[in-house]
Amino acid sequence: MNIHHKITDLQLVHPFKIARRAVDQFRQVISVEIDGGLGETAPARFYGETVETVQIAFEIFDSLLNDNLDAIQTVMAQLESVLGGNSAAKSAIDMALHDRLGKALGVPLYRLWGLDPNATPRTSFTIGLDEPEIMQQKVREAAPYPILKIKLGTPRDLEIIRAIREVTDKPIYVDANTAWTPKEAVRKIRALVPYDIALIEQPTKPDDLEGLKFVREHTDLPIIADESVKHAADIPALVGCVDGVNIKLVKCGGLLEAMRIIHVARAHGLQVMIGCMIESSLGITAAAHLTPLVDYADLDGHLLVANDPYVGVTLEAGKLILPNRPGIGVVPKGDT
Ligand code: MG
Repeated sequence: MNIHHKITDLQLVHPFKIARRAVDQFRQVISVEIDGGLGETAPARFYGETVETVQIAFEIFDSLLNDNLDAIQTVMAQLESVLGGNSAAKSAIDMALHDRLGKALGVPLYRLWGLDPNATPRTSFTIGLDEPEIMQQKVREAAPYPILKIKLGTPRDLEIIRAIREVTDKPIYVDANTAWTPKEAVRKIRALVPYDIALIEQPTKPDDLEGLKFVREHTDLPIIADESVKHAADIPALVGCVDGVNIKLVKCGGLLEAMRIIHVARAHGLQVMIGCMIESSLGITAAAHLTPLVDYADLDGHLLVANDPYVGVTLEAGKLILPNRPGIGVVPKGDT
């Protein structure tokens, strides 16, 4: 076996809820080790992947990882030719190969890519759906984080935002996670304007690009696609429908494809956000190495976890501080 993997139950600090899902107490991630390189993935049922499908994909991919591990572009193209989709599984492998290469060359990923580690943005911190009073309490507990992302997509959206604005004047991103109809989105976004919202993420259904376009043309806040964009090839169809795209490694299949999305989005004049699932510091730190290239970072998945096995990217007043160790640069907690 070339791919050694391990399943970890990440315990959540708070039960976490978004528009389309029930409350979760913990989330499973799969970490991999390939010739000393570390990767991680957090498969999402919404995108058709589970721990089981990732394990099956690893079995299929294992024989393709041989003496060619430095040629990450070639390896990832081979994986794609053998098995389409399965982006979460591919992301773990892509991440481990990048970590391995950075370690072999003795440089952090940001240096491998010629990026300025001082150019990282501040990350937002997500407040999951709950009763408005509990969301207010979560906002108070989020004191260290200078930007908040508020999950909406309920019959009580305005009530929630009003309650949150009573307790904070921080910049707020809103994420409806596909919950609104286009007309409902227009009505709600217009009503949200007085509450000083910085952007709206995925107001409507993923496949309804006309709906997104309708919302964008009838409102004034930046509209960021998340569930509507998985790969770079999805971007041209979104031009004119949204102002930006939210990249996630488990959606797109890894760091290589994430880099392609950034460049394709820029070529079309779109803004770029990089987001995450609930992941440990391993997956979050890998994504953080790309943040000198993005407008918005939403890399808080590890902050929602009580038993993070790793130490990697840290925060200073919300700004992402990249580790300067080789590769992704994470170490097991307790080793620092
Ligand atoms: Mg989102």
